[in-house]
Amino acid sequence: MCSDRVRVRGRAVAALAAGVWIAAAAAAAEPPAFSGHRAFAWIDRQCDLGPRPPGSAALETLRRLVEAHADSLGLPVARLCFTARDPWRGGDVTLCNLVVSCGPAGGDRLWLGAHYDTRPACDQDPDPARRGEPLLGANDGASGTAILLHLMEVLAAAPPARGVDLIFFDGEDSGRSGDPRGFCLGSRHLAATWRDFPSPLAGGKPRALIVLDMVGERGLRIGKEGYSQAYAPELTSLVFARAASLRLTALVPEPATAVYDDHVPFLEAGIPAVDLIDFEFPQWHTAGDVPAVCDPASLTQVGRLVLSLCREPLPGF
Ligand SMILES: [Zn+2]
Repeated sequence: MCSDRVRVRGRAVAALAAGVWIAAAAAAAEPPAFSGHRAFAWIDRQCDLGPRPPGSAALETLRRLVEAHADSLGLPVARLCFTARDPWRGGDVTLCNLVVSCGPAGGDRLWLGAHYDTRPACDQDPDPARRGEPLLGANDGASGTAILLHLMEVLAAAPPARGVDLIFFDGEDSGRSGDPRGFCLGSRHLAATWRDFPSPLAGGKPRALIVLDMVGERGLRIGKEGYSQAYAPELTSLVFARAASLRLTALVPEPATAVYDDHVPFLEAGIPAVDLIDFEFPQWHTAGDVPAVCDPASLTQVGRLVLSLCREPLPGF
């Protein structure tokens, strides 16, 4: 990896496009709730672009969509690009993490992350003829990203008291199976370099990172992912306790598979991190990962949880 390129956009664009949403929230006096239906619309919008593997025109279109959404809401957004070896195709590929900041700049921060790239191939498809097709990634990629995109709306309307950075990771899912080095390229780069970037990333160390991956499946069931439980047991327990207090039944406080995901590089860097993931997903890395297998009710559960973590920080995190 080499040649970091950073572009930060400010609040130059007025929050005109978000006016209706913000006005509605202000009139209601109560802070807006998380809407699984609004988040689901963002799954559709991403999938309408087609598969979004690293380096593709569709992924660049999505990147611009995220940036335009942040601009319309008056939220600062940074594009953090670097060059990496493409683990799937070979050759160089430009990867870009995006960071959207909500609430006050500086001070203690909560990071919420999701990968917005999709896998270059449906290599687990039961039909060998389809294994060369790129993944649409309604659940694997778009679901966590959709929650972040809708959270931008909710947090812009009622900013959290503590700064929250929404991180869109590139290059999560292009590795060859059996070789973890090809996965999580964006998160590994950010875990190694975040102190080099402009504020707020270069401010204080984040208190915690919550990663959302494959959180949109119908019948969602999220257990305690193995690495999170092993290396951030206190944070994991508190997150599941918060879910229980909110009666979010999709979160089940039982041990679950350890998944090498975007939280691992941060755990290795000493940042407490939890991966919210339902890895028991029958359409994983198949052509069946389409919006029809996702459910707004699942997005509501995870969205309510992370919104609660934004508004009421966990003790110590
Ligand atoms: Zn995947």
